[in-house]
Amino acid sequence: MLKLRCPNCKNSMLYKSTTDSLDKKVKKCVYCGKSFSVLKSIRN
Ligand SMILES: [Zn+2]
Repeated sequence: MLKLRCPNCKNSMLYKSTTDSLDKKVKKCVYCGKSFSVLKSIRN
């Protein structure tokens, strides 16, 4: 599981990756509904 942070509303959420290539993956924020890049939103 990856921890992502929405660039729009700044909330954190978990993302279950099903592949190693995250380059073009987008996640729809569960809080604000905005889609964002998974790769650029990974938090450690
Ligand atoms: Zn959001």
